[in-house]
Amino acid sequence: MSKDEDFPQPPDLDQMPRFAGIATFMRLPLVSDLKKLDIALIGVPCDGGSTNRAGARHGPREIRNMSSLIRRVNPASGIAPFDLCRVGDVGDAPVNPIDIADALARIQAFFEALAAAGVVPLGAGGDHLVTLPILRAIATERPLGLVQFDAHSDTVDSYFGGQRYTHGTPFRRAVEEKLIDPARTVQIGIRGSLFSSDEMAFARQGGMRLISIEEFYELGIDAVIAEARRVVGDGPAYVSFDVDGLDPVYASGTGTPEVGGFSTHEAQRMIRGLRGLDLVGADVVEVAPPFDLGGVTALAAANIMFELLCVLADATARRGAG
Ligand code: MN
Ligand code: MN
Repeated sequence: MSKDEDFPQPPDLDQMPRFAGIATFMRLPLVSDLKKLDIALIGVPCDGGSTNRAGARHGPREIRNMSSLIRRVNPASGIAPFDLCRVGDVGDAPVNPIDIADALARIQAFFEALAAAGVVPLGAGGDHLVTLPILRAIATERPLGLVQFDAHSDTVDSYFGGQRYTHGTPFRRAVEEKLIDPARTVQIGIRGSLFSSDEMAFARQGGMRLISIEEFYELGIDAVIAEARRVVGDGPAYVSFDVDGLDPVYASGTGTPEVGGFSTHEAQRMIRGLRGLDLVGADVVEVAPPFDLGGVTALAAANIMFELLCVLADATARRGAG
């Protein structure tokens, strides 16, 4: 088999224009044989955890569509992820739109199959609750470090009379279940009005490092990157990117928008700054196309996915070489 068949590439311009063909993530082949992959791109069309504006179940299709604009080489880092790793679209995780517990079980089982095959996951939600079953599938040996880009901490205990599984609770559950290490967790972009002044108590008292948007702009981007790297350290880590971390100017299509966020370019620079960490998986969540204006949110998410893929491919290739 040629290297091209081993290492799938998006079609070149002389093969097919980018607007043509069936929409897969980044115009990669749809792959069912997990042995052919190092990194899988997965849709997780589940928004049963949304507490406000629903619609993130439609995220994967629109991100796939907008990801047709993605090319092959990162212009800033020079990383060519499709040369470093075998990457493909494995389709959508199975979900259940009327039963959250069953949806979580189905998503977890799908990601467990990837993990059993040694395939690194890069998911596209779905609301932020989908990160919990992904972590359950891959954080089996030890708690992971976490870099979370988000306007919200997502560490509330429960909503609506004891509902413990919503998109506002995944990282509290993840700490309780020892899927993430709070001392190796950094949350970047935190903002928005609160229901009470002690809403972040669990995150702060539990040892998570919260970087509010005010601190983000006080420190500057290079210092934020350095702080994220310090917190996460050398151990295995996961990156979860909630598009509501972006300012609504760049990401109107999301369930819980908060004004005053970082820009798409600042997000790109922060993700590039994670190169060299031992990254074992990532996701982009909370794209809600019914609220998107001109597809800008799906476009941002597709490009965030590409940035995440570049640092994941770099980490995956280094683990393979080591
Ligand atoms: Mn979130
Ligand atoms: Mn959020």
